[in-house]
Formats: sequence, structure tokens, C-alpha cells
Amino acid sequence: MSDCIFCKIAAGEIPSTKVYEDAEFCAFKDLNPQAPVHILLIPKKHISSLLELQEADATLMGKLLFRGQKIAKEQGLGESGVRFVFNCKDDAGQTVHHIHCHILGGARLSDSFGVR
Ligand code: AMP
Ligand code: ZN
Repeated sequence: MSDCIFCKIAAGEIPSTKVYEDAEFCAFKDLNPQAPVHILLIPKKHISSLLELQEADATLMGKLLFRGQKIAKEQGLGESGVRFVFNCKDDAGQTVHHIHCHILGGARLSDSFGVR
């Protein structure tokens, strides 16, 4: 998608600090980290959010979750713990409309999941 910031990051058209890349995925440091480790893992394919996922994307997203596990362990979070988050649409606070998995850890995280 031509005006999508994460498609541009995936294509290398705008800079990011990538921690992983292959033909289907890339992972990069969040510009505004909310934890000592805060990485965004995306499929290079543009999908707006988990709510737009098609059944044909199920294998891709299974691979994404497995890659997320690998990245979390590489970042040293395998024993201390990690939070994987997919924000979807407005009430969840999604600001970039290209599906992304937040990988958060490196400190005790807040337990605030509820209404603001
Ligand atoms: P969300 O609120 O779930 O849509 O998360 C979007 C995330 O993307 C936020 O945590 C932003 O800090 C992050 N972000 C936005 N632009 C960039 C960028 N150019 N490079 C890295 N992270 C970004
Ligand atoms: Zn995109």
C-alpha cells in the first residue's frame, strides 16, 4: 500500500532499526518505546489489522507468531517474560493500519488492559 508507513519500512524506503528481516517479515524497534524492549513485528504483506485477516493468511500469521517467539528469546525475554500485543482499530488505540505485533519486555509491565 503506497501511503502505508510500515509498508515503506518493510521496503526499506524509510529508515528503521531492524532486528530481523526475511522475505515475508520484518521486525524493527518502536520509535517511541514503552518498555526496555519494544519491537514491532510485521508481515511485509499489507493487512490492515487482525480484524481484516483472511483464512488464507492463517499460515502467514502462524509463522509470524513463531518468529515473534524467536525474537523475544533473542532479546533475552524467554525466561523473564514478554507481552505480544495486536491493537485493532480505534478503541484499542491502533494508529498504524498495517498489522503489527508489539513485542514488549525487559521490565515488569503495567497490568492496565481496561478502559481509560
Ligand atoms: P499502534 O498504536 O498499535 O498502532 O502502534 C503503532 C506503533 O508504531 C507505535 O508504538 C509507534 O510508536 C510506532 N511507530 C510509528 N511510526 C514508527 C516508525 N517510523 N518507526 C518505528 N515505530 C513507529
Ligand atoms: Zn502497509
